[in-house]
Amino acid sequence: MKNGDNSAGRVLGRFFRPVPPGLRAQFKAQRIKTNVNRMFALSIYIIVIQIVLNIINILRPSEGGDAGNIGMYVTLSLVTLSVGVVYMLLLLQAKKGRIQSEGAKRFLINSLLYIYIGIQMVFCTLNVIATGGVNSYIIAILILCMFPVIRPVQSITSTLVCFAYLLVAMYVTRGISSAWDSIMLTDTWTNLIIITGITMCISVFIYNIYVDNFMRSMELEKSNAELVGANEKLAEANEKLEIAANTDQMTGVLNRRAFSRDYEEIWNSSLLKKARIATAIFDIDFFKAYNDKFGHLEGDKCLQMIAGSLRDSFRRQYDIVSRFGGEEFLVVFDASEQDAYALVNNARQHVEDLHIPHAKKTVSPYVTVSAGVCVMVPSEAVDNDIALRMADDALYESKRGGRNKITMKIYEKEAEKEEKSGS
Ligand code: GH3
Ligand code: MG
Ligand code: MG
Repeated sequence: MKNGDNSAGRVLGRFFRPVPPGLRAQFKAQRIKTNVNRMFALSIYIIVIQIVLNIINILRPSEGGDAGNIGMYVTLSLVTLSVGVVYMLLLLQAKKGRIQSEGAKRFLINSLLYIYIGIQMVFCTLNVIATGGVNSYIIAILILCMFPVIRPVQSITSTLVCFAYLLVAMYVTRGISSAWDSIMLTDTWTNLIIITGITMCISVFIYNIYVDNFMRSMELEKSNAELVGANEKLAEANEKLEIAANTDQMTGVLNRRAFSRDYEEIWNSSLLKKARIATAIFDIDFFKAYNDKFGHLEGDKCLQMIAGSLRDSFRRQYDIVSRFGGEEFLVVFDASEQDAYALVNNARQHVEDLHIPHAKKTVSPYVTVSAGVCVMVPSEAVDNDIALRMADDALYESKRGGRNKITMKIYEKEAEKEEKSGS
């Protein structure tokens, strides 16, 4: 029985697209929104068509089959016109979000649909009595099946009810045998049955296409959300990668690659602003001896502590602290000559104050650093590595001078000296 149900469900599913239970509420809300728009369009159609029909009815000479019913037609037309206006205004409120309840919107949609079909069927009855014409019936089922997106069960039953009503109207006005003969024998009725069948099929197609589009939009939404999630993860991973690519893994300060990039930037902006920059190279004193005594792992820890100490000493926004390689660190910052000297000397003292016991205690019982500093206003006349070379020379002097020292060179003064010795 269960299998039978499933296969029946599958066959039905081919004709009537099912919506998965989890998406039904969303589907219902979307269908109501669509139908509010479509019924709004229907209300405008009703208003326009009724105005035109009333004008025609008023101008039409009062003769022919329907002549006796003209007054009735005009009254019905005016009622229809009023229905169109009232519903247009109400549906406009729903479109603008002033009517929010789904139940109220559904009521507006269904009541307009069935009131309009009811009116058309009244017209149809008048037609049947007068001439046997079925125009209004065709209009009614076309509107029913094509304007709103309705479930096949609703469109098929409503259409069949309209068809049955037409038969009853025929029976009441002309007698059953005449009605039956009409159905069996006349082209009008053959065509009517075909049109009824086709409109029912079109309604089912419209519904199925609507379901398919809805499902596709849901899938698209889902894959979009997945894409956004993946993009966020990618951006996060990229950010981590960028940080890793610019950081010296062991000490956590910038690596040489990042230094070159930032140094170029600071050089160029100082060039424009004619601002002074200080470039300092710090080198650990007798580090080979430290490694030899305590081992490389302890040496690494010592490097990490000194890197941390330098980072603490130079923590302004545009200060660059980087590992230049081995046991050397490069620091770039903007400062006047006096400030540069004081800052570098404080940094040197800060390292000594870490009180890391040294293997070679000729200079201090603790691990110390020597530094060379170059202070200059960047100039277009020289390459930006001049500051590094001068800082390196200054470092060499600090080492020669006994270590745990700093030496500062001012580019402009050095250039002046060179000029004098040259002339
Ligand atoms: P000086 O005072 O003249 O600078 O003497 P020094 O011994 O520090 O200089 P030298 O250039 O002879 O030795 C540098 C040492 O730094 C050699 C090397 O073992 C050590 N070193 C370089 N990179 C690392 C590292 O990543 N980890 C450890 N543990 N040691 C390193
Ligand atoms: Mg060195
Ligand atoms: Mg050294």
